[in-house]
Amino acid sequence: MEKTPAGRDWRFNVGYLLFALIAILILHRMWDIHQQTEVILYSEFANLLREDKVSEVVVGDQAVRATLKEPTPDGRKQVLAVRVEPNFAQELEAAKVKYSGQIEHTWISTLLIWMVPIAIFYFFWSLITQRMSQGLGSIMSVGQSKAKVFVEKDIKIGFADVAGVDEAKEELQEIVAFLRDPTTHGRLGARIPKGILLVGPPGTGKTLLARAVAGEAGVPFFSITGSEFVEMFVGVGAARVRDLFAQARANTPCIIFIDELDALGRARGISGLSGGHDEKEQTLNQLLSELDGFDPTIGVVLLAATNRPEVLDPALLRAGRFDRQVSVDRPDKNGRVAILNVHLKKIKLAENVDPAQISALTPGFTGADLANLVNEAAMLATRRQASSVSLDDFTAAVERVVAGPEKRKRLLNPRERQIVAYHEMGHAIVAMALPDTDPIKKVSIIPRGMGALGYTMQMPTEDRYLMTRTELLNRMTVLLGGRAAEMAVFREATTGAADDLQRATEMARAIVTRYGMEPEIGQASFVAERPRYLDLPGLGPFQSEASDETNAKIDAAIRKLVDQAFDRATAILQNCARVHKDSAQRLLDKETFGEDDLAPIRAAVTQCVAGPSKTTAGAGAETS
Ligand code: ADP
Ligand code: MG
Ligand code: ZN
Repeated sequence: MEKTPAGRDWRFNVGYLLFALIAILILHRMWDIHQQTEVILYSEFANLLREDKVSEVVVGDQAVRATLKEPTPDGRKQVLAVRVEPNFAQELEAAKVKYSGQIEHTWISTLLIWMVPIAIFYFFWSLITQRMSQGLGSIMSVGQSKAKVFVEKDIKIGFADVAGVDEAKEELQEIVAFLRDPTTHGRLGARIPKGILLVGPPGTGKTLLARAVAGEAGVPFFSITGSEFVEMFVGVGAARVRDLFAQARANTPCIIFIDELDALGRARGISGLSGGHDEKEQTLNQLLSELDGFDPTIGVVLLAATNRPEVLDPALLRAGRFDRQVSVDRPDKNGRVAILNVHLKKIKLAENVDPAQISALTPGFTGADLANLVNEAAMLATRRQASSVSLDDFTAAVERVVAGPEKRKRLLNPRERQIVAYHEMGHAIVAMALPDTDPIKKVSIIPRGMGALGYTMQMPTEDRYLMTRTELLNRMTVLLGGRAAEMAVFREATTGAADDLQRATEMARAIVTRYGMEPEIGQASFVAERPRYLDLPGLGPFQSEASDETNAKIDAAIRKLVDQAFDRATAILQNCARVHKDSAQRLLDKETFGEDDLAPIRAAVTQCVAGPSKTTAGAGAETS
């Protein structure tokens, strides 16, 4: 802020500099001409001509410029003489008088001669200075970022405009209550989290949700976007962050929102390797220090959004900073209906169109995709000059969005979805069948993050410090439940199980080489802890210190453990084939199972596991 006057001085200096430069150029040129040219009387010129001293003459309208064969005594090679009318010149010549012409200036031409260059000069000068203050404005007004911090005072958006993310809304409800009445909240001692991080794929409505919180609470919304800092000059970002917090503190209660936090808060080590980015680091450090010196009880709530939480600097996620995460997932079938209802209000829909039909066409679509879809469909209907948007318009629009010019949306085809549904239910049913496994909270075939096509969420009921061999084996069995399901139902393996297999194998390797739980190998550890700084990617977490012979045994033991787990999972799924099939089909339709949907399945699984054939799936059913 103290740099502002300095900035203005600098701008003036540029003007002066330019002025001086041009003045010097003009003077120099005039001097140059003056050096070489002498203005002489026309009669003298006539004399020179007669004496054969002129080599070249340039005849102008009003004057002649003559180049001399030899320079005059004071070193000039050119002379200039104002012309005289030829006949008259002869008469004057005869009369032997000195004579010369004179250029007549009217006052208008004088004015023009003086004013036009000045006007042109002034025009360019002001143009240039204006440019400078725009283009280099961010240099000149370092720290004065009021214009760039985005403030919205009267937000009309509320929770009703954000659909299909009920869990996130529920979590944010508390924030709204706090912002509506910060003093009461503070008095009762309720602690409000300092920073809340909205995490979810692009287009799921994170930005929208943050604004909706401000709208619901009726407080101002201060926001900046992380990616804006990427191309900025060093120091500007940090100053802006400082300014953002200062403005927010002066406007409590309010919300500070940092969008695309990952662009700014990328782990410092990563950017350090690629040449380092001072600006981002400075900005991040400023943000961290603002977070630390920030008291939420004054009524400022800090929200941030990211679609890549994994690249965030761990310092940002530490307690007292962005220590609470709210996940904003892709909507399931019902969620999509809700989102469609929000956006369909804006268009004229044909009467026989049911949002549920559109929702069924669009598995994997995000809120932004759906908003886009509604728009596309309306455009198609307009093009065919219909009076309302029909289901056919939506079908065509889906095709355009999915297969259209921008092919970035890779959606699962029906067969892939089917496989994913059976795979995920495979995990879930195996977990339900085994005792002492963490309960399944949620099963979904909505792609989440990168790579995962579906997911089965298992929640530990308590913190675990020790695990038994049985528990480890059960976990492996659950992991292999996905592949077992694929094999049982489709008789073919898919690449979808790669991650499961890796984790199961790692677990088996740990059982054998780290925990000494395998009788054939013995209670010995074969793991050499490598120093952390050598933990390079690609080398794997373990380095065996065993002889080749023992290594072969270890590999065989790992193989056996994995195979046994796979067989157990297969046996469970065989016994519960009906439950597996029914639930997978229902999951295909519903896309997400919550605890309510899972309870009856759990009951059915308990039945089929205890069913006719004695299964290997018991607590102590060790097969080895
Ligand atoms: P993100 O910040 O998660 O990338 P945005 O909040 O920018 O997504 O969403 C872009 C647009 O998509 C929103 O302006 C809105 O029109 C639409 N949209 C996204 N999610 C939802 C939702 N859950 N409900 C309603 N509209 C949504
Ligand atoms: Mg966004
Ligand atoms: Zn899996």
